[in-house]
Amino acid sequence: MAAGGRIAVVGAGWAGLACAAELAAAGRPVVVLEASRQPGGRARSVELDGRRLDNGQHLLVGAYTETLRLMRLVGADPACLLARLPLCIDYPGRFRLQLPDWPAPLHLAAGLLRAEGVGLREKLAAAAFMQELKRRRFRLESDATVAAWLDAHGQRGALRRFLWEPLCLAALNTPPAQASAQIFANVLRDSLGGPSGATDLLLQRADLGRVFPEQAARRIAELGGEVRTSHRVRDLQPQDDGWRVDGECFDHVVLAVAPQHLAPLLAARPAHAALLRQVDGYAYEPIGTLYLSYPAEVRLPFPMLGLAGPVGQWVFDRGAQGGPAGLLACVFSGGGEWEGLDDDALAAALHAEIAAALADPLPPPHWRRSVRERRATFSCRPDLPRPTAATAERGLWLAGDHTCADYPATIEGAVRSGVAAARAILSQR
Ligand SMILES: Cc1cc2nc3c(=O)[nH]c(=O)nc-3n(C[C@H](O)[C@H](O)[C@H](O)COP(=O)(O)OP(=O)(O)OC[C@H]3O[C@@H](n4cnc5c(N)ncnc54)[C@H](O)[C@@H]3O)c2cc1C
Repeated sequence: MAAGGRIAVVGAGWAGLACAAELAAAGRPVVVLEASRQPGGRARSVELDGRRLDNGQHLLVGAYTETLRLMRLVGADPACLLARLPLCIDYPGRFRLQLPDWPAPLHLAAGLLRAEGVGLREKLAAAAFMQELKRRRFRLESDATVAAWLDAHGQRGALRRFLWEPLCLAALNTPPAQASAQIFANVLRDSLGGPSGATDLLLQRADLGRVFPEQAARRIAELGGEVRTSHRVRDLQPQDDGWRVDGECFDHVVLAVAPQHLAPLLAARPAHAALLRQVDGYAYEPIGTLYLSYPAEVRLPFPMLGLAGPVGQWVFDRGAQGGPAGLLACVFSGGGEWEGLDDDALAAALHAEIAAALADPLPPPHWRRSVRERRATFSCRPDLPRPTAATAERGLWLAGDHTCADYPATIEGAVRSGVAAARAILSQR
């Protein structure tokens, strides 16, 4: 049976959907095959005790330019779905850095100078560090861990504790002692070192499914494509000039799956042995989200607050941007004490930490539930080898956050990887 120019995209995470949306918008017939019952992958909506929430609290930032473009492409309006706020890193009573709405790089200079909870010497050292990075175009001579890199540049004290290290953990989901300094420098290049809006926080006004995956699936269908859920691809066979995917013929196949899901699809194909060895060496990091539901009048002073521990890292006010009033989402990136606590113990610890951070008394939460993603992202270590979109076999492509070599495992990396795979296919005859 002829493939008729059809393209199969395996995986309806943000990478697969971005790839399929680009292909469909270019007039190519595309079929997305997704193992789960719904699209979205690691950034999806889930139902918890009758509440529509996310598999984990996510944060997007202004630097996510491809994500915003793809949202518009599929008809998901970022202005309605995301609230844009200037960056504010606030650990109440301990540290506060807020960037004014000024042109770059003045916004960063002013923000650093006005930061509370940190001395002038440290502020100047941080400004000099950013200047030096810019001068080197954010390229390191050789990769190292973020901790070693910060040590080498004299970045210690409050700015390290409340700015560099939390940013590293939030963006790379890898502890500074293990994270890649080069990838962190890339993140700084496109955020603090980018245009002023790049550091803006983009906070969801709706659950993740509505922010992109569901609208992307609808748009792909409107453009003549298909998104088939509950279909786990098991068999890939080359045929003539194309591929058979579970017996169905396609000209191209894009594997937009997480790195740990490549082996079941490719183990039988010796051409991909080197790729599988590469991703087999990856380690993974967890992310946990604890939802706490308080009476509707409970509000945080800013929709995202830093928690100085010992267990909590960040807490988001889901009610502040139009979500359920009184709902807080506490995030734990990377391994830590949170993993050893059951939901009751975790809720008690976080309630105490949030109460300590707020000046007002906090009534007890009337509902709590955690979502724990054990393999949330690959561990973004120094010199981690990253595959490209092209594979060892013609017509077989990769997408997924791990293939966007410039970025850690993020929504923006996933979307960029999908777009890159689509463009590679479109550039072929
Ligand atoms: C809890 C959590 C919090 C996060 N927070 C942030 C954040 O704040 N900001 C940020 O930018 N990023 C964050 N991330 C990372 C971000 O979600 C991921 O980098 C991104 O979603 C990865 O998308 P992807 O499409 O590359 O992969 P995935 O989302 O893993 O998509 C792959 C899809 O392929 C499907 N699949 C696998 N095998 C098969 C098969 N054989 N057949 C059919 N389908 C298959 C899977 O079911 C899945 O849907 C977070 C991740 C988690 C888990």
